[in-house]
Amino acid sequence: MLSFGVEALFINAMEAVMECMKTVTVQCPYCGALNEELIDCSVEPPEEYVEDCEICCSPMVITIRSVEGEEPVVTVRRENE
Ligand SMILES: [Zn+2]
Repeated sequence: MLSFGVEALFINAMEAVMECMKTVTVQCPYCGALNEELIDCSVEPPEEYVEDCEICCSPMVITIRSVEGEEPVVTVRRENE
């Protein structure tokens, strides 16, 4: 009984993660390369975080604005602007 309950909880957690992982494409403000960013909206998204460009390794400041029930709005800018 106990193991069955744990298994059911685990499956529910996996489904929640699958629903909330979203890939967005952001353009590097330095070299213009397109980077794919994986956004996990199952956790409270940080409003702003820094991610290095895959091509030129420059720090991109990525801002996420998520409204419940709507697509998250992702913007990217240079670190020192
Ligand atoms: Zn770049």
